Amino acid sequence: MADKEKANIPETDEGTIVFNVPFPDDLSGLKKMTPIIIKQPYQIDYIHSYGQDSPFFAGLANKKILGTKCTRCGYSYATPKLHCMECGSECDWIELPQQGRVHTWTTCYFGSEEFLKETPFNLILVEFEGIDTLLLSRLVGVSQDEISIGMKVSAKFKRNSKFKPTDVYFVSSPDKEEKA
Ligand SMILES: [Zn+2]
Repeated sequence: MADKEKANIPETDEGTIVFNVPFPDDLSGLKKMTPIIIKQPYQIDYIHSYGQDSPFFAGLANKKILGTKCTRCGYSYATPKLHCMECGSECDWIELPQQGRVHTWTTCYFGSEEFLKETPFNLILVEFEGIDTLLLSRLVGVSQDEISIGMKVSAKFKRNSKFKPTDVYFVSSPDKEEKA
């Protein structure tokens, strides 16, 4: 005889518990049943390698923005690439300036779950003197109608690095020469 106690999966109190759901005697109507919708917390621990991008995040943790520069053709990347998109050669790490200019910008009124609570926010593509590509980042502390293409911006870093691209963001950096 099988042990009936041991043949049961234990019931737990975690997650969704439903004690009673209306159910028709006539199954023909089930295709028209409204969907069951539940809210369920979901969390995973995700072990993720930054691989060759690791120095970029180590740089942010040390208040430096790192880009790369092709060892052959000299093309430079504000969004680091370890191999040149122009000629395919290997790139070296370089430190980027902490000041740049707004190349273009957009205001986000919607975002992924992580950023949704922060909407609306302004995203900019930053151009750096002497660097061939742009860096996507946030512009903080400036309202939408104060942003203009070409405006000077300075990098700021989160005090506690989260090893995310959002560890760096930009603020308006008044151009004294233009104001004089
Ligand atoms: Zn190259």
